[in-house]
Amino acid sequence: MTAIIRTVTGDIPADACGVTYCHEHLVLDSPLIELRFPDIHLNDDERAIREVAACAEEGVHTMVDAMPCSAGRSGTRLAAISEKTGVRIIAATGLHHDRYYGPEHWTNGSSVQELAELFVQDVVRGIDQFDYTGPVVARTSHRAGIIKVATSGPQLNDRDKRILRAVSIAHERTRAPILTHCEGGEGGPEQVAFLADHGVDPTRVILSHIDKDATAERIKDLVASGAYLEFDQSLRQDDRVDAPSIVLLREAVELGASERIVLGTDGARRSLWTAWAGGPGLAWLYARYRQLLVDSGIPQVVVDGFFVANPAYALSFDPVMA
Ligand SMILES: [Zn+2]
Repeated sequence: MTAIIRTVTGDIPADACGVTYCHEHLVLDSPLIELRFPDIHLNDDERAIREVAACAEEGVHTMVDAMPCSAGRSGTRLAAISEKTGVRIIAATGLHHDRYYGPEHWTNGSSVQELAELFVQDVVRGIDQFDYTGPVVARTSHRAGIIKVATSGPQLNDRDKRILRAVSIAHERTRAPILTHCEGGEGGPEQVAFLADHGVDPTRVILSHIDKDATAERIKDLVASGAYLEFDQSLRQDDRVDAPSIVLLREAVELGASERIVLGTDGARRSLWTAWAGGPGLAWLYARYRQLLVDSGIPQVVVDGFFVANPAYALSFDPVMA
């Protein structure tokens, strides 16, 4: 079987992804988020369509929506946004940081095997219409194409390990790549080491938010981990060639990681979207940040690789029937 990228509207050949954003948030709509984190409550699909359409106009073809199970995700709504804009969307399974669930959440009482099975079914059959929020599961035709896991800081706690273990099993059974959340930019090398102990090849892992408070020291360990490194904090920084994200990215390039760098906006803030009267807007990453990277001295062909060739490798897999 040849490598594919699994989007919510169907599989595409790996080399057909085009310009790809690797960590977006287009639908983020749960009662807990509405109550506790109103700025990240992304509940308006018309605005999402406008925001994504502006990216398409700049030349963006594909986006990863990084919201996993049971915390505000919707495969159906992502598919509708994709169909309206022409931008392909890769949905996530897996679990996020426990702040998006709370202490009473059912996932705290589930076994590793039970969680792994739910993740597998999202990838091979389709995402639950109710997003695993109720006792009834009704699978849609919209499948997840990536497995997300969040850890809580530099050290892995018991919840982190339990979910990493479930994710490693789901990866083994589906081959779908793994996207991690590094809390405060930390914990990436520890995630990769734990996953590798459970049979996961580091090149099948994308570490998110590594430019959040990262240091030149830490970037060495991140490059040495062998995983893909996702720089996704640039929308929160100054529009300058010496913005912290760019300084760090240049370090990673100098350390030889240019074929393992991918980019995203992590734009889970109304205040970052033009469609919510914020800024600079998700389109800024391709329309402006790309140019800043070139102006900082990184060759255009290398920068293009961050947007096209690197995501094509990072996000593709040979699907197996689990
Ligand atoms: Zn995120």
